[in-house]
Amino acid sequence: ASWWSHVEPAAKDPILGVTEAFLADPSPDKVNVGVGAYRDDNGKPVVLNCVREAERRIAGNLNMEYLPMGGSIKMIEEALKLAYGDDSELIKDKRIASVQALSGTGACRLFADFQRRFLPDSQIYIPLPTWANHHNIWRDAHVPQRTFHYYHPETKGLDFAAMMDDIKNAPNGSFFLLHACAHNPTGVDPTEEQWREISYQFKVKNHFPFFDMAYQGFATGDPERDAKAIRIFLEDGHMIGCAQSFAKNMGLYGQRVGCLSILCENEIQAVAVKSQLQQIARPMYSNPPIHGALVVSIILSDPQLKSLWLEEVKGMADRIIGMRTALRENIEKLGSNMSWEHITNQIGMFCYSGLTPEQVDRLTSDFHIYLTRNGRISMAGVTTGNVGYLANAIHQVTQ
Ligand code: PLP
Repeated sequence: ASWWSHVEPAAKDPILGVTEAFLADPSPDKVNVGVGAYRDDNGKPVVLNCVREAERRIAGNLNMEYLPMGGSIKMIEEALKLAYGDDSELIKDKRIASVQALSGTGACRLFADFQRRFLPDSQIYIPLPTWANHHNIWRDAHVPQRTFHYYHPETKGLDFAAMMDDIKNAPNGSFFLLHACAHNPTGVDPTEEQWREISYQFKVKNHFPFFDMAYQGFATGDPERDAKAIRIFLEDGHMIGCAQSFAKNMGLYGQRVGCLSILCENEIQAVAVKSQLQQIARPMYSNPPIHGALVVSIILSDPQLKSLWLEEVKGMADRIIGMRTALRENIEKLGSNMSWEHITNQIGMFCYSGLTPEQVDRLTSDFHIYLTRNGRISMAGVTTGNVGYLANAIHQVTQ
Protein backbone atom coordinates (compact mmCIF):
# COMPACT_ATOMS: atom_id res chain seq x y z
CA ALA A 1 0.00 0.00 0.00
CA SER A 2 1.15 3.52 -0.67
CA TRP A 3 1.68 6.01 2.11
CA TRP A 4 -1.44 7.98 1.36
CA SER A 5 -3.98 5.35 0.32
CA HIS A 6 -6.16 6.21 3.32
CA VAL A 7 -6.48 9.87 2.31
CA GLU A 8 -9.94 10.72 1.01
CA PRO A 9 -10.56 13.94 -0.97
CA ALA A 10 -11.49 16.82 1.33
CA ALA A 11 -15.00 18.23 1.19
CA LYS A 12 -15.22 21.01 -1.38
CA ASP A 13 -15.26 24.54 -0.04
CA PRO A 14 -18.85 25.65 -0.73
CA ILE A 15 -17.83 29.11 -1.91
CA LEU A 16 -14.91 28.11 -4.12
CA GLY A 17 -17.06 25.33 -5.60
CA VAL A 18 -19.55 27.94 -6.82
CA THR A 19 -16.85 29.78 -8.78
CA GLU A 20 -15.66 26.51 -10.35
CA ALA A 21 -19.17 25.70 -11.53
CA PHE A 22 -19.59 29.26 -12.86
CA LEU A 23 -16.35 29.06 -14.87
CA ALA A 24 -17.39 25.72 -16.37
CA ASP A 25 -20.77 27.11 -17.59
CA PRO A 26 -20.61 28.15 -21.28
CA SER A 27 -23.82 30.25 -21.14
CA PRO A 28 -23.35 33.92 -22.18
CA ASP A 29 -26.04 34.91 -19.62
CA LYS A 30 -24.20 33.49 -16.63
CA VAL A 31 -23.86 35.60 -13.48
CA ASN A 32 -21.58 34.94 -10.51
CA VAL A 33 -22.95 36.37 -7.28
CA GLY A 34 -21.15 33.79 -5.17
CA VAL A 35 -17.70 35.17 -4.64
CA GLY A 36 -16.95 37.77 -1.97
CA ALA A 37 -14.72 40.00 -4.03
CA TYR A 38 -15.57 43.44 -5.36
CA ARG A 39 -16.29 43.92 -9.07
CA ASP A 40 -16.85 47.14 -11.01
CA ASP A 41 -20.02 47.87 -12.95
CA ASN A 42 -18.65 45.81 -15.84
CA GLY A 43 -18.12 42.83 -13.56
CA LYS A 44 -14.33 43.23 -13.62
CA PRO A 45 -11.91 43.02 -10.66
CA VAL A 46 -10.65 46.42 -9.51
CA VAL A 47 -7.21 47.68 -8.53
CA LEU A 48 -7.60 50.98 -6.71
CA ASN A 49 -5.74 54.03 -8.04
CA CYS A 50 -4.21 54.62 -4.60
CA VAL A 51 -2.78 51.08 -4.78
CA ARG A 52 -1.40 51.65 -8.30
CA GLU A 53 0.30 54.84 -7.08
CA ALA A 54 1.75 53.13 -3.99
CA GLU A 55 3.12 50.38 -6.24
CA ARG A 56 4.75 52.96 -8.49
CA ARG A 57 6.53 54.35 -5.45
CA ILE A 58 7.67 50.91 -4.35
CA ALA A 59 8.94 49.76 -7.75
CA GLY A 60 12.67 50.23 -8.10
CA ASN A 61 12.94 52.01 -4.75
CA LEU A 62 12.49 49.60 -1.89
CA ASN A 63 14.31 46.42 -1.02
CA MET A 64 12.58 43.12 -0.40
CA GLU A 65 14.31 42.12 2.82
CA TYR A 66 12.49 40.10 5.48
CA LEU A 67 10.11 42.10 7.61
CA PRO A 68 10.57 41.77 11.39
CA MET A 69 8.81 38.71 12.84
CA GLY A 70 5.85 40.86 13.90
CA GLY A 71 5.60 42.47 10.47
CA SER A 72 5.81 46.07 9.29
CA ILE A 73 5.85 48.45 12.26
CA LYS A 74 4.62 51.29 10.07
CA MET A 75 1.74 49.30 8.59
CA ILE A 76 0.66 48.17 12.06
CA GLU A 77 0.77 51.73 13.36
CA GLU A 78 -1.51 52.90 10.55
CA ALA A 79 -3.84 49.92 10.90
CA LEU A 80 -4.25 50.60 14.61
CA LYS A 81 -5.15 54.24 13.95
CA LEU A 82 -7.90 53.07 11.60
CA ALA A 83 -9.39 50.64 14.10
CA TYR A 84 -8.81 52.42 17.42
CA GLY A 85 -8.95 56.04 16.20
CA ASP A 86 -6.30 58.52 15.05
CA ASP A 87 -5.82 60.04 18.49
CA SER A 88 -6.29 56.92 20.56
CA GLU A 89 -4.65 57.13 23.99
CA LEU A 90 -4.36 53.35 23.89
CA ILE A 91 -1.95 53.61 20.96
CA LYS A 92 0.06 56.39 22.64
CA ASP A 93 0.27 54.36 25.84
CA LYS A 94 1.50 51.33 23.82
CA ARG A 95 -1.17 49.12 25.33
CA ILE A 96 -2.07 47.31 22.11
CA ALA A 97 -0.13 44.13 21.31
CA SER A 98 -0.23 43.89 17.53
CA VAL A 99 1.33 41.94 14.71
CA GLN A 100 0.94 41.91 10.96
CA ALA A 101 -1.10 38.88 9.96
CA LEU A 102 -1.85 36.91 6.81
CA SER A 103 -4.95 38.97 6.10
CA GLY A 104 -8.10 38.58 8.17
CA THR A 105 -8.01 34.78 8.13
CA GLY A 106 -4.46 34.71 9.46
CA ALA A 107 -5.31 37.26 12.15
CA CYS A 108 -8.24 35.15 13.36
CA ARG A 109 -6.14 32.00 13.33
CA LEU A 110 -3.27 33.59 15.23
CA PHE A 111 -5.72 34.78 17.86
CA ALA A 112 -7.37 31.35 18.10
CA ASP A 113 -3.97 29.68 18.58
CA PHE A 114 -3.03 32.29 21.20
CA GLN A 115 -6.33 31.74 23.01
CA ARG A 116 -5.78 27.99 23.02
CA ARG A 117 -2.19 28.29 24.24
CA PHE A 118 -2.78 30.71 27.11
CA LEU A 119 -6.38 29.98 28.11
CA PRO A 120 -6.64 26.28 27.21
CA ASP A 121 -9.98 25.82 28.97
CA SER A 122 -11.73 28.66 27.15
CA GLN A 123 -14.34 28.36 24.40
CA ILE A 124 -15.50 30.71 21.68
CA TYR A 125 -19.08 31.81 20.99
CA ILE A 126 -19.65 32.30 17.26
CA PRO A 127 -22.72 33.97 15.69
CA LEU A 128 -25.28 31.87 13.85
CA PRO A 129 -24.72 32.02 10.96
CA THR A 130 -21.21 33.29 10.32
CA TRP A 131 -18.48 33.20 7.67
CA ALA A 132 -17.99 29.44 7.39
CA ASN A 133 -14.24 29.64 7.82
CA HIS A 134 -14.64 30.90 11.41
CA HIS A 135 -15.72 27.38 12.35
CA ASN A 136 -12.70 25.85 10.61
CA ILE A 137 -10.28 28.31 12.19
CA TRP A 138 -11.27 27.73 15.81
CA ARG A 139 -11.71 23.99 15.16
CA ASP A 140 -8.17 23.63 13.86
CA ALA A 141 -6.90 25.70 16.78
CA HIS A 142 -8.65 23.18 19.09
CA VAL A 143 -10.83 25.77 20.80
CA PRO A 144 -14.31 24.37 21.57
CA GLN A 145 -17.09 26.30 19.85
CA ARG A 146 -20.55 27.39 20.88
CA THR A 147 -22.95 29.44 18.82
CA PHE A 148 -25.13 32.39 19.73
CA HIS A 149 -28.34 33.57 18.09
CA TYR A 150 -27.86 36.37 15.60
CA TYR A 151 -30.06 36.25 12.49
CA HIS A 152 -33.83 36.06 12.50
CA PRO A 153 -35.05 34.18 9.39
CA GLU A 154 -38.55 35.69 9.50
CA THR A 155 -37.56 39.34 9.78
CA LYS A 156 -34.32 38.76 7.85
CA GLY A 157 -32.81 41.07 10.44
CA LEU A 158 -31.13 40.77 13.84
CA ASP A 159 -32.60 38.47 16.48
CA PHE A 160 -31.55 40.94 19.15
CA ALA A 161 -33.58 39.48 22.02
CA ALA A 162 -32.25 35.95 21.51
CA MET A 163 -28.73 37.26 21.06
CA MET A 164 -28.92 39.17 24.36
CA ASP A 165 -30.28 36.07 26.09
CA ASP A 166 -27.34 34.01 24.82
CA ILE A 167 -24.91 36.67 26.01
CA LYS A 168 -26.57 36.66 29.45
CA ASN A 169 -26.69 32.87 29.66
CA ALA A 170 -23.09 32.23 28.63
CA PRO A 171 -20.72 31.54 31.54
CA ASN A 172 -19.06 34.71 32.87
CA GLY A 173 -15.82 35.51 31.07
CA SER A 174 -16.69 33.83 27.75
CA PHE A 175 -15.04 34.68 24.44
CA PHE A 176 -17.37 36.04 21.74
CA LEU A 177 -16.60 36.52 18.08
CA LEU A 178 -18.31 39.66 16.77
CA HIS A 179 -18.32 41.00 13.20
CA ALA A 180 -17.35 44.66 13.60
CA CYS A 181 -19.47 45.67 10.59
CA ALA A 182 -21.03 44.26 7.42
CA HIS A 183 -21.76 40.85 8.94
CA ASN A 184 -20.95 37.99 6.56
CA PRO A 185 -23.12 36.29 5.30
CA THR A 186 -26.23 38.14 6.51
CA GLY A 187 -25.46 41.84 5.93
CA VAL A 188 -27.23 42.42 9.25
CA ASP A 189 -25.49 44.66 11.81
CA PRO A 190 -26.73 45.79 15.23
CA THR A 191 -27.68 49.48 15.44
CA GLU A 192 -25.51 51.82 17.46
CA GLU A 193 -27.98 51.65 20.32
CA GLN A 194 -27.95 47.86 20.22
CA TRP A 195 -24.15 47.80 20.21
CA ARG A 196 -24.24 49.93 23.37
CA GLU A 197 -26.55 47.41 25.03
CA ILE A 198 -24.37 44.52 23.90
CA SER A 199 -21.26 46.25 25.24
CA TYR A 200 -23.04 46.94 28.54
CA GLN A 201 -24.03 43.31 28.92
CA PHE A 202 -20.50 42.16 28.04
CA LYS A 203 -19.28 44.34 30.93
CA VAL A 204 -21.80 42.82 33.30
CA LYS A 205 -20.74 39.32 32.24
CA ASN A 206 -17.03 40.10 31.88
CA HIS A 207 -17.03 38.57 28.38
CA PHE A 208 -14.15 39.01 25.96
CA PRO A 209 -15.11 40.65 22.63
CA PHE A 210 -13.06 39.55 19.63
CA PHE A 211 -13.89 41.69 16.61
CA ASP A 212 -13.40 40.38 13.12
CA MET A 213 -13.26 43.52 10.99
CA ALA A 214 -12.92 42.33 7.41
CA TYR A 215 -14.98 45.14 5.85
CA GLN A 216 -14.01 48.46 7.45
CA GLY A 217 -15.20 51.15 5.02
CA PHE A 218 -17.16 48.68 2.95
CA ALA A 219 -20.38 48.95 4.92
CA THR A 220 -21.19 52.66 4.98
CA GLY A 221 -18.34 53.88 2.77
CA ASP A 222 -16.70 55.56 5.79
CA PRO A 223 -14.07 53.61 7.79
CA GLU A 224 -14.68 55.80 10.86
CA ARG A 225 -18.39 55.01 10.92
CA ASP A 226 -17.69 51.34 10.34
CA ALA A 227 -15.43 51.32 13.41
CA LYS A 228 -18.27 52.52 15.63
CA ALA A 229 -18.93 49.19 17.34
CA ILE A 230 -15.27 48.86 18.31
CA ARG A 231 -15.16 52.44 19.56
CA ILE A 232 -18.21 51.85 21.74
CA PHE A 233 -16.55 48.84 23.34
CA LEU A 234 -13.34 50.83 23.86
CA GLU A 235 -15.25 53.69 25.49
CA ASP A 236 -16.75 51.16 27.86
CA GLY A 237 -13.28 49.96 28.82
CA HIS A 238 -13.30 46.47 27.27
CA MET A 239 -10.03 44.66 26.62
CA ILE A 240 -10.80 43.76 23.02
CA GLY A 241 -9.10 41.70 20.35
CA CYS A 242 -9.35 42.69 16.71
CA ALA A 243 -8.63 41.08 13.34
CA GLN A 244 -8.22 43.58 10.48
CA SER A 245 -8.03 42.80 6.79
CA PHE A 246 -7.09 45.00 3.85
CA ALA A 247 -8.39 42.46 1.34
CA LYS A 248 -11.73 44.12 0.69
CA ASN A 249 -11.32 47.78 1.60
CA MET A 250 -8.10 48.18 -0.41
CA GLY A 251 -8.76 45.41 -2.91
CA LEU A 252 -5.56 43.64 -1.78
CA TYR A 253 -7.14 40.17 -1.64
CA GLY A 254 -4.17 38.15 -2.87
CA GLN A 255 -1.58 40.20 -0.98
CA ARG A 256 -2.68 38.73 2.35
CA VAL A 257 -2.21 41.81 4.49
CA GLY A 258 -3.91 42.27 7.82
CA CYS A 259 -3.33 42.95 11.47
CA LEU A 260 -4.10 41.23 14.75
CA SER A 261 -4.30 43.40 17.83
CA ILE A 262 -5.00 42.60 21.47
CA LEU A 263 -5.62 45.44 23.90
CA CYS A 264 -3.76 44.91 27.20
CA GLU A 265 -3.82 46.45 30.68
CA ASN A 266 -0.45 48.15 30.20
CA GLU A 267 2.64 48.32 28.03
CA ILE A 268 4.50 45.54 29.86
CA GLN A 269 1.63 43.13 29.22
CA ALA A 270 1.40 44.24 25.59
CA VAL A 271 5.10 43.55 25.03
CA ALA A 272 4.71 40.06 26.49
CA VAL A 273 1.59 39.29 24.45
CA LYS A 274 3.19 40.54 21.22
CA SER A 275 6.27 38.40 21.82
CA GLN A 276 4.08 35.33 22.27
CA LEU A 277 2.11 36.09 19.09
CA GLN A 278 5.41 36.23 17.22
CA GLN A 279 6.40 32.96 18.82
CA ILE A 280 3.27 31.34 17.38
CA ALA A 281 3.92 32.80 13.92
CA ARG A 282 7.62 31.84 13.79
CA PRO A 283 7.31 28.08 13.22
CA MET A 284 4.35 28.54 10.84
CA TYR A 285 5.58 31.17 8.38
CA SER A 286 8.43 32.98 10.14
CA ASN A 287 7.40 36.46 9.06
CA PRO A 288 4.64 37.94 6.95
CA PRO A 289 4.90 39.11 3.30
CA ILE A 290 6.24 42.58 2.59
CA HIS A 291 4.60 43.88 -0.57
CA GLY A 292 1.04 44.39 0.64
CA ALA A 293 2.32 45.83 3.91
CA LEU A 294 4.30 48.44 1.98
CA VAL A 295 1.27 49.30 -0.12
CA VAL A 296 -0.94 49.77 2.95
CA SER A 297 1.60 51.79 4.92
CA ILE A 298 2.39 54.08 1.96
CA ILE A 299 -1.30 54.79 1.34
CA LEU A 300 -2.29 55.38 4.95
CA SER A 301 0.72 57.51 5.88
CA ASP A 302 0.43 59.90 2.92
CA PRO A 303 -2.46 62.36 3.43
CA GLN A 304 -3.13 62.69 -0.29
CA LEU A 305 -3.10 58.97 -0.98
CA LYS A 306 -5.19 58.37 2.09
CA SER A 307 -7.88 60.77 0.92
CA LEU A 308 -7.80 59.12 -2.52
CA TRP A 309 -8.32 55.77 -0.77
CA LEU A 310 -11.22 57.15 1.27
CA GLU A 311 -12.83 58.35 -1.96
CA GLU A 312 -12.29 55.00 -3.65
CA VAL A 313 -13.57 52.88 -0.78
CA LYS A 314 -16.65 55.10 -0.65
CA GLY A 315 -17.05 54.59 -4.39
CA MET A 316 -17.11 50.82 -3.91
CA ALA A 317 -19.57 50.98 -1.00
CA ASP A 318 -21.83 53.42 -2.87
CA ARG A 319 -21.95 51.22 -5.97
CA ILE A 320 -23.05 48.30 -3.81
CA ILE A 321 -25.67 50.38 -2.02
CA GLY A 322 -26.94 51.58 -5.41
CA MET A 323 -27.23 47.99 -6.64
CA ARG A 324 -29.25 47.07 -3.54
CA THR A 325 -31.80 49.75 -4.43
CA ALA A 326 -31.82 48.70 -8.08
CA LEU A 327 -32.26 45.00 -7.29
CA ARG A 328 -35.10 45.66 -4.86
CA GLU A 329 -36.90 48.08 -7.22
CA ASN A 330 -36.56 45.71 -10.15
CA ILE A 331 -38.08 42.78 -8.23
CA GLU A 332 -40.88 44.97 -6.90
CA LYS A 333 -41.63 46.32 -10.39
CA LEU A 334 -42.20 42.77 -11.60
CA GLY A 335 -45.10 42.60 -9.15
CA SER A 336 -43.60 40.33 -6.51
CA ASN A 337 -45.96 40.07 -3.57
CA MET A 338 -43.15 39.27 -1.16
CA SER A 339 -41.24 41.85 0.89
CA TRP A 340 -37.76 42.70 -0.42
CA GLU A 341 -37.06 45.46 2.07
CA HIS A 342 -34.22 43.43 3.57
CA ILE A 343 -32.17 43.89 0.39
CA THR A 344 -31.77 47.58 1.20
CA ASN A 345 -31.79 47.17 5.00
CA GLN A 346 -28.82 44.84 4.93
CA ILE A 347 -25.35 46.31 4.50
CA GLY A 348 -21.89 45.43 3.18
CA MET A 349 -20.96 43.02 0.47
CA PHE A 350 -23.73 40.48 0.93
CA CYS A 351 -27.48 40.19 0.75
CA TYR A 352 -28.90 37.26 2.68
CA SER A 353 -31.81 36.90 0.34
CA GLY A 354 -33.94 34.34 2.14
CA LEU A 355 -34.00 32.15 -0.99
CA THR A 356 -34.26 28.46 -0.11
CA PRO A 357 -31.63 25.95 -1.30
CA GLU A 358 -34.18 24.66 -3.85
CA GLN A 359 -34.79 28.16 -5.19
CA VAL A 360 -31.03 28.70 -5.45
CA ASP A 361 -30.76 25.42 -7.39
CA ARG A 362 -33.38 26.71 -9.84
CA LEU A 363 -31.54 30.02 -10.25
CA THR A 364 -28.49 28.03 -11.25
CA SER A 365 -30.12 25.39 -13.45
CA ASP A 366 -32.68 27.63 -15.20
CA PHE A 367 -30.88 30.99 -15.24
CA HIS A 368 -27.13 30.24 -14.94
CA ILE A 369 -26.92 32.35 -11.77
CA TYR A 370 -24.34 31.11 -9.28
CA LEU A 371 -24.45 31.59 -5.50
CA THR A 372 -24.14 29.50 -2.34
CA ARG A 373 -27.16 27.41 -1.36
CA ASN A 374 -27.74 29.50 1.78
CA GLY A 375 -29.13 32.20 -0.53
CA ARG A 376 -26.25 34.63 -0.01
CA ILE A 377 -25.97 37.05 -2.93
CA SER A 378 -22.70 38.91 -3.32
CA MET A 379 -23.91 42.40 -4.18
CA ALA A 380 -20.43 43.11 -5.56
CA GLY A 381 -21.26 40.84 -8.49
CA VAL A 382 -24.44 42.79 -9.36
CA THR A 383 -24.10 45.38 -12.15
CA THR A 384 -26.36 47.72 -14.13
CA GLY A 385 -25.99 45.17 -16.91
CA ASN A 386 -27.24 42.13 -14.98
CA VAL A 387 -29.50 43.52 -12.24
CA GLY A 388 -32.65 43.27 -14.39
CA TYR A 389 -31.87 39.69 -15.39
CA LEU A 390 -31.12 38.75 -11.78
CA ALA A 391 -34.30 40.42 -10.49
CA ASN A 392 -36.44 38.59 -13.04
CA ALA A 393 -34.85 35.25 -12.18
CA ILE A 394 -35.40 35.80 -8.45
CA HIS A 395 -39.01 36.75 -9.12
CA GLN A 396 -39.53 33.64 -11.27
CA VAL A 397 -38.21 31.23 -8.63
CA THR A 398 -40.08 32.86 -5.73
CA GLN A 399 -43.58 33.36 -7.12
N1 PLP B 1 -13.73 37.52 8.14
C1 PLP B 1 -14.83 37.62 7.44
C2 PLP B 1 -16.12 37.84 8.13
C3 PLP B 1 -14.79 37.54 6.04
O1 PLP B 1 -15.91 37.65 5.34
C4 PLP B 1 -13.55 37.33 5.41
C5 PLP B 1 -13.48 37.18 3.95
O2 PLP B 1 -14.37 36.78 3.27
C6 PLP B 1 -12.42 37.24 6.22
C7 PLP B 1 -12.54 37.34 7.58
C8 PLP B 1 -11.03 37.01 5.74
O3 PLP B 1 -10.62 37.46 4.55
P1 PLP B 1 -9.08 37.60 4.23
O4 PLP B 1 -8.37 36.49 4.92
O5 PLP B 1 -9.01 37.53 2.77
O6 PLP B 1 -8.66 38.93 4.79
